[in-house]
Amino acid sequence: MRSHVEKYIEEIHTCPHCSQKMSCCEAPPVHVGDGLGWGSEILFICLNDFCPLFLNGWDHVENQYGHHASYRYMELPGSMESNVMMVGNADAFKASVINPEILKSQNSRYQKEKEAVEALDSCLAEKNLEPVMLLLLDEAADRANRQKALECMIQLNELDCIDPIRNHSFRDPAFERDCNMAINQLLKANFKKECPHCFEIIKAQAVKCMHCGEPVK
Ligand SMILES: [Zn+2]
Ligand SMILES: [Zn+2]
Repeated sequence: MRSHVEKYIEEIHTCPHCSQKMSCCEAPPVHVGDGLGWGSEILFICLNDFCPLFLNGWDHVENQYGHHASYRYMELPGSMESNVMMVGNADAFKASVINPEILKSQNSRYQKEKEAVEALDSCLAEKNLEPVMLLLLDEAADRANRQKALECMIQLNELDCIDPIRNHSFRDPAFERDCNMAINQLLKANFKKECPHCFEIIKAQAVKCMHCGEPVK
């Protein structure tokens, strides 16, 4: 399952016909000639067998089209727009329900993020920069978790964190700005600065870089 599915999987959709929580299902495979299908890998479907839409659908389809089928209420992820799917029996789609917990535990990146978030609680006492860096440099991690890691980074007060951050390309410019501000804060607290020529960390009062020999302000 691809990672962008994760961002939708925790959406809560409620069926307007029965007020039950809808199931998150894998979208049925699209056959050649069917066009783009639903344009989504997952669909939210009301699989409640007592849903009035489903219960009344049998008669409706029988009368309208003369065949044995009914409807399930459906919504696309990120949307509240109403759709229905025709189903031939009560079990249709039940095998394609996605269990978000299983999906997440299978996803090692998410697992690592979760472990790192847990480790943040003890990282200050243990002087452990590792979970902090993992979250700071994980572009897929939750923004709030990364922000929390950034606060820990400042409190850990270790200059080792600077290089990996400088070498990382951030997708979120606002978060990158926060990281840069945190680095400046760290350098100041340690009476250091970055050489503008070679970017090595040097003493704040240095007039000449000890690494590249260039004069610095
Ligand atoms: Zn329903
Ligand atoms: Zn230098």
